[in-house]
Amino acid sequence: MDAKVEIEPARRGLGEDVPQTMRAWVLGGPDELALVDKPTPMPGRAEVLVRIDAVAICATDLEILTYGTPAMIEGGAPFNKGFTPGHEYMGTVAALGPGVDEFAVGDRVTVEIHAGCGQCKRCRQGMYTSCHNYGLNYGDVDKGHRANGFTTDGGFAEYAVNNINTLIRVPDAMSDEEATLVVTAGTSMYGLTELGGLVAGESVVVIGPGPIGLLAVAVAKALGAAPVILVGTRESRNAIGRQLGADHVIDARNEDVVARVKELTGKGADYVVDCAGSETTVNQAVAMTNRGGKICLAAFPKNAVSFTLGALAVNNIYLYGIRGEGRSATHRAMAFMEAGRFDASLIHTHTFPLDDLPTALKYARERIDDAIKVVVSTRPGITGGPKAK
Ligand SMILES: [Zn+2]
Ligand SMILES: [Zn+2]
Repeated sequence: MDAKVEIEPARRGLGEDVPQTMRAWVLGGPDELALVDKPTPMPGRAEVLVRIDAVAICATDLEILTYGTPAMIEGGAPFNKGFTPGHEYMGTVAALGPGVDEFAVGDRVTVEIHAGCGQCKRCRQGMYTSCHNYGLNYGDVDKGHRANGFTTDGGFAEYAVNNINTLIRVPDAMSDEEATLVVTAGTSMYGLTELGGLVAGESVVVIGPGPIGLLAVAVAKALGAAPVILVGTRESRNAIGRQLGADHVIDARNEDVVARVKELTGKGADYVVDCAGSETTVNQAVAMTNRGGKICLAAFPKNAVSFTLGALAVNNIYLYGIRGEGRSATHRAMAFMEAGRFDASLIHTHTFPLDDLPTALKYARERIDDAIKVVVSTRPGITGGPKAK
């Protein structure tokens, strides 16, 4: 029996406005991207087709293009399989799958990455980013898991299919570019959610002013944390951290980070979010956390890391790992962004047309012109370069 749900004939058509083929970037060998025409995908049950208006480039995209991981297509590396990467996108609902009445054609939406299988133990617990059926969405083993831009086609294209549970409505007043940042802010929110979320009046240290770190500062501040302390090395990024709500910024090049955190907090930090994931920062996190405090690892250290494990036991310190943007954290992040509790667009630096994706990737990879979040847009009239001030 075909496990795929048949689309009702009446809903089969994509509508007059949706072309049968679309332009999409596909990954050939490592770092080989080509802009091709491929069939516009058809939404199935509980899915919609999103016309992509903008997509932000993430450091993970750069990893995928070069190394393949953490993307996984048909159980292996994503190379030469017609795979379209890109996962931080937003757009407009263009067609509905059968049975979908939660959204309407024309709705402006941004997306989170993961739609879990919905049937494994972790999905049932709401931990759909840790789905046990990750990547089992091909051939005879379609478990229904989707992680767009990782295990299924993503957003460096004109259209993508999304499960309705991955959609977040975008307010009219929010720009396309800002809306692409909701999944990044959602990842930061998920970290603080897993730490317990009750950070009002508690000290939070964020190590590493990349996009997730900078928005972790913003989210911690919006949740009432005090003081919020950012540890970073690049002054241009630290300055944005101050604008996003950091009460103190520690320059890791010139200051003793642990001593300074203890000076600012008294007994050490209540919560630490490590967004750098190096041996140095993991050790700093362990040493700066006070008794009974909690540490969240929001970065993926590539290599084995050595640290004083005993310090966790002796000091009753809790260590959490997070994967992606779980527990609907994107919705809470959007609530803060819609209410203007922080300006996520401070981390957006450049926009390029979809056709110029290679240039956009170069800006992101080489941090040209202090690039942080580089966005690719399908809107007509985008010429490419720094965002309009
Ligand atoms: Zn990302
Ligand atoms: Zn699952």
